[in-house]
Amino acid sequence: MQMKKTSPAVILDRDGTLCRDVVYMSRFEDFDPLPGVDAALRLLQDAGYRLFVATNQSGVARGLFPLETVQAINAKIRDYFLEKGVNLEDFAVCPHHPQGSVPEYTLDCACRKPKPGMLLDLAFKHGLDLGRSYMVGDMPRDAQAGLAAGCQGVLIPPQRGIPGLDNNVRLKEFNSLLDFARSVRGVDASHVC
Ligand SMILES: [Mg+2]
Ligand SMILES: [Zn+2]
Repeated sequence: MQMKKTSPAVILDRDGTLCRDVVYMSRFEDFDPLPGVDAALRLLQDAGYRLFVATNQSGVARGLFPLETVQAINAKIRDYFLEKGVNLEDFAVCPHHPQGSVPEYTLDCACRKPKPGMLLDLAFKHGLDLGRSYMVGDMPRDAQAGLAAGCQGVLIPPQRGIPGLDNNVRLKEFNSLLDFARSVRGVDASHVC
């Protein structure tokens, strides 16, 4: 039996990575994309990477907004980038937190980053090759989730001095998403030295 072909992907954190982190975004009007992000995503897409988002949204567990609000905001963010020629294929959301106030979402789940659950789910659902994929974020827990899922972890901006992340060859740091995108070699060119 032949192995099913899987694709490399770039999985991105949302708040603080694609857009300014307003802390508990509860309406699309607060979506403020960071400079250069759409150009960076186009570069990654053109290099052959499929694009996904994995976002912790503990505001749901904390009772600040319902999961439906997060999903509606994500759908609008997806449309925003589609208009820029960028296809963010799917948004994985962790609505949980161990110290929430909404019983349904108050648990120590397997998906809240730094745990790799959202990445593993995306890989299963979309046929991703995590070993050839990147997890990009602005917090150590983003990179940790990536490493735990077998991806390359990418931190933007650099945050040296993080215990357990220093000197890890699977972790890279960049000043911006655009710098990262410019460093990524095309999927089809990956055999070229
Ligand atoms: Mg973030
Ligand atoms: Zn979760």
